[in-house]
Amino acid sequence: MRRPLIAGNWKMHTTYEQALELARAIQARCGMAEYAEVVLIPPFPWIVPLSRQLNGSSISLGAQTCSAFDEGAYTGEVSAKMVAPFCRYVIVGHSERRRLFGETDAVVAAKLRAVLRNGLQPILCVGETLEERESGATRDIVERQIAAACSDLESGQVARLVIAYEPVWAIGTGRPATSADAELVASWIRAWFRERFGSGISEGLRILYGGSVTAANAADFLAVGDIDGALVGGASLDAREFCSIVEAAV
Ligand code: PEP
Repeated sequence: MRRPLIAGNWKMHTTYEQALELARAIQARCGMAEYAEVVLIPPFPWIVPLSRQLNGSSISLGAQTCSAFDEGAYTGEVSAKMVAPFCRYVIVGHSERRRLFGETDAVVAAKLRAVLRNGLQPILCVGETLEERESGATRDIVERQIAAACSDLESGQVARLVIAYEPVWAIGTGRPATSADAELVASWIRAWFRERFGSGISEGLRILYGGSVTAANAADFLAVGDIDGALVGGASLDAREFCSIVEAAV
């Protein structure tokens, strides 16, 4: 059985005080949830203080991106090696990184390797734009993004991946995909891994849906057999809302 994973991507939101309070409130409301893995993904500067605050809790931390390099003369970069003592996950290939910061499939692949090399688990985001969807290219786009990042991985590395299907047009828009759309794409993703790595690996792979998930719609997505959790942006900034999404994973 795949354990559901509910991850909150705080993006570039929260002050230091707000971050500590948000994590405290989430810990109090749903920090004991055993049926789901709860992951908070705050801005870089809050990772270390939050890891201290959450010490002993079952909530784990992630980073929103990382450098493709482990260390060196790369001004402004933060490496997977640096966050590894404090985090379990790192998002790679988020559409905001691809779109706003020019991250290509090759860059995403290099970052994914940096995450694996440092013993962390990548949350690889894939998804099509509205234009791509309307031209019927969703499957091609998602498979191209996955192939570029994962084709030459070994089975043991693939077993550590989490895939987040995040249609770009649904992120931060208040217009989520339908659960039927998400189910179809999740089934394509699992089939892609089954064909290349076998059913043992593909059946263990966790596939999340992300894109305007709220407390009101989370249960629809989480009821889908191939969807094993949610990557939550806006709704993760409200402890009550986020924990209602976690509870929908029961
Ligand atoms: C995200 O940032 O990954 C995301 C899914 O955002 P939102 O939930 O706000 O659409």
